[in-house]
Amino acid sequence: MDTQGRTLVSFDIDGTLEMGDPPGPLSAGFVLRTQQSGCLIGSCSDRTIREQSAMWDAAGIVPDFVVVKNQLDSVRERFASLRYVHIGDTHVDAHFAKQASFEFIFVLDLARRLDSPCDSFGDLI
Ligand SMILES: [Mg+2]
Repeated sequence: MDTQGRTLVSFDIDGTLEMGDPPGPLSAGFVLRTQQSGCLIGSCSDRTIREQSAMWDAAGIVPDFVVVKNQLDSVRERFASLRYVHIGDTHVDAHFAKQASFEFIFVLDLARRLDSPCDSFGDLI
């Protein structure tokens, strides 16, 4: 598999995705377009694997990975990628991103750059 240029994007759920509780600024469509653009995508949340999987199911998205928050480093081990990014809304996200050597992007910083309903992650960063 060609991993040149591939980016892996991990999404927190609550406060980050529109499906979260509370809802965050990123839509399911944004996640889907990001995946369709060639990124690996998945979730890394305080929710159980079962809850996260049910959320993806309801959104009609098949994620490449689903992990609990302190297991982000396992994603790095499983997937060869050029770039590893975690998007979240709290300092806890920032902490676990750093621990797993992921770049951390604060979701509101990312949402501010959204200016088209067709944007995906690659259009913004
Ligand atoms: Mg959150």
